[in-house]
Amino acid sequence: MNDSEAQNWSARQSSELYGVEEWGGGYFGVNADGNVEVRAPGNGDRVAVALTDIIDGLQQRGLDMPVLLRIENLVDSRITILNESFAEAIKTTGYQGQYRGAFPIKVNQQSHIVEEIARFGERYNHGLEAGSKAELMIAMSVLQNRESLIVCNGYKDEEFIDLGLQARKLGFKCIFVLETLAEVRLVIERSRAHKVDPIIGVRLKLSTKVEGHWAEDSGDRSLFGLTTNQLVEIIDELREAELLHCLELLHFHLGSQIPNIRSIRAGVLEACRYYIEMVAEGAPLRYIDLGGGLAIDYDGTSSVSGHSRNYSVQEYCVDVVEALAQQLNAHNLPHPTIVTESGRATVAHTSVLLFNVLDVGHFEPGPVPSDLPENMHEQISNLWYTLKAINVDKLQESYNDVIYYRDQVRDCFFRGEVNLRDRAFAENLCLAGLQQIVALLPKMKRIPPELEELPEQLADIYYGNFSVFQSLPDSWAINQVFPVMPIHRLNEKPSRQATIADLTCDCDGKLDSFAGPEGETKTLSLHSIKEGEEYYLGVFLVGAYQETLGDLHNLFGDTNVASVRINADGTLDFVHELHGDSIADVLSYVEYDPQSMFRQFRMAAEQAVRDGRISVSERQSMLAAYSESLRGYTYFER
Ligand SMILES: *Cc1c(COP(=O)(O)O)cnc(C)c1O
Repeated sequence: MNDSEAQNWSARQSSELYGVEEWGGGYFGVNADGNVEVRAPGNGDRVAVALTDIIDGLQQRGLDMPVLLRIENLVDSRITILNESFAEAIKTTGYQGQYRGAFPIKVNQQSHIVEEIARFGERYNHGLEAGSKAELMIAMSVLQNRESLIVCNGYKDEEFIDLGLQARKLGFKCIFVLETLAEVRLVIERSRAHKVDPIIGVRLKLSTKVEGHWAEDSGDRSLFGLTTNQLVEIIDELREAELLHCLELLHFHLGSQIPNIRSIRAGVLEACRYYIEMVAEGAPLRYIDLGGGLAIDYDGTSSVSGHSRNYSVQEYCVDVVEALAQQLNAHNLPHPTIVTESGRATVAHTSVLLFNVLDVGHFEPGPVPSDLPENMHEQISNLWYTLKAINVDKLQESYNDVIYYRDQVRDCFFRGEVNLRDRAFAENLCLAGLQQIVALLPKMKRIPPELEELPEQLADIYYGNFSVFQSLPDSWAINQVFPVMPIHRLNEKPSRQATIADLTCDCDGKLDSFAGPEGETKTLSLHSIKEGEEYYLGVFLVGAYQETLGDLHNLFGDTNVASVRINADGTLDFVHELHGDSIADVLSYVEYDPQSMFRQFRMAAEQAVRDGRISVSERQSMLAAYSESLRGYTYFER
């Protein structure tokens, strides 16, 4: 491709190529200068800030790549959308109850996120869901509002229950969702001891099954929730203990990222059957809690396949409210408060992982001479003639021959019949041949399966300054696809096809599956990197589940984190910055003592001075460098 072709390309074409308007949820887009911008609600219209401007600001503040960037007001926007959409659906349906959100802390426990949700969510009485004692303690400390719910899921020991009962005494609407029979006995006993009535919920195991990665959270084999039998026993025990009046909430959770709206509706309908029966048993139910599952569109396809969903937040709310109203009206039952524990849909958009590209590995051949050098081994000349004969009508045959003669040459090298330089010559011929074949592939009517994978095998490898294991664990663990794209140079046509490797020396430390408008692809279009100029990529929608699941593979620690807020007038505030782990930090996580390591190093240096291997001043500068490294960032620094 020549320069004029590169220039004959618009930001809009990049926007379509990477599908950013599809997966960006309205928060991300490409501006006319060819930069990715973040959009936020402003005074009247939307305001936008380019990610490159944010990076400049971070660098001025000493925060290097990689950086996890949080855009605080996107969380606010998501909470608004969720609450307003439920309010709208409730109004249009004539539903008599209210909506109460509860953000599940496990989805992003970082204090700035949870505190922002509590602060901004207060206007909607948006509460929190806690799955452990630690999370309950967070909820009790950050929620200012006593109307908001604290929903306690998960297995609860005596201490957990005591803590929740104390929250009740302080006026919190703290609800114990029972998951086992043993829990009900503990709750009865502890509430008697504390002389306070608990608010009790039950988590049901529904038979509605959902598709997607979390299919196993639903159905009979689901790990969580009470069977119908156990529910009956709990009702009996509560009645016996004269606490049935405390059973106010019915809970179910079908799994995360539910792709199909039909399963959500089916789940609500099934839950309604239990609701009606439980009321008939004498439980004064007031809340129905749908758990999580509200999905987001990671690949921009708006489909039930892959990493997407076939519904919007608005449609979700309308379907839930309608299904409930329909069922309960038929039985003349009052409408309960609708609770959802949406985690992913609340925080995924808020975080972007930004990193620079350190190097590119090419599978580009060097020049091939027009005449075969003299005295080449027979198999090498066979390979050379094969190359000369490549044509579009017999690509598979040419491919077979290239691979055959390449292997012959390798065998000859093994036996000592081909020397190092001739082998290198042959490998270059082979690469040139394969690239010729790839270039001709688009001209074929039907590409044979063996050749289909060739472009991917010859794609560039872009080495990124990040760790998949630390920053994108779901990409490695469950093949979650996140949108990835360059954040600048988008009015230039990207001329390379590439996969992305991280800094770890692990063959799983890579991104090689990408979401695109035409479905998943194995390579990503990228620009060639320019000497002396950074090339930045962003991985988007990483605000849910990625931060605390990450691990220290190869001792790459937490990245730098920055929170920004885009003000309604379009100005930018840098509200928080947090330096990532230093090398000393990660070493101490695995029980090394950086101080004694330094002492050992100093002793080795002193010994070298005594032995006359280094001078005293060399010793000094070595010690300074070692100590500097201990304080330094675990990622690549320029
Ligand atoms: C994980 C979890 C959630 C959050 O689900 P999302 O799909 O992220 O909204 C909600 N409730 C329970 C009980 C969970 O385990």
